[in-house]
Amino acid sequence: MYDENCIFCKIAKGEIPSTKLYEDDNCVIIKDLNPQAPVHLLLIPKDHYANICEMSDDQAKTLAACVKNLSNHVDEFGLQDGFRLVSNKGENGCQSVNHLHIHILGGEKLSDTMC
Ligand code: 5GP
Ligand code: ZN
Repeated sequence: MYDENCIFCKIAKGEIPSTKLYEDDNCVIIKDLNPQAPVHLLLIPKDHYANICEMSDDQAKTLAACVKNLSNHVDEFGLQDGFRLVSNKGENGCQSVNHLHIHILGGEKLSDTMC
């Protein structure tokens, strides 16, 4: 599904510019506009759904395949020494864009506290 009011739908379609490092039929991986680590990427499924609570079984399978595929690009993205995946949900999670996305953080040793 495409939501014409959603910034990540527009980025995934190329209607809003981004630094796209990877794209396939199911997802894009872009650089975050306001990086919080030396490497801060966003894995964005092309299909619009707000968060995991609104995700269908098929969308879950597709997302799992996208995450698995990340392992093929670890060196290319500068993540060979490790990385962290984060997906914020809702108000307490401080989600600001209501199209599911996974933050990929790395490029240095990250804090050993999660929040
Ligand atoms: P959230 O707060 O929803 O977990 O994460 C949204 C992320 O999207 C933030 O880290 C923010 O910097 C990033 N972001 C918001 N708008 C844009 C944009 O137009 N382009 C890119 N590349 N990142 C964006
Ligand atoms: Zn969207």
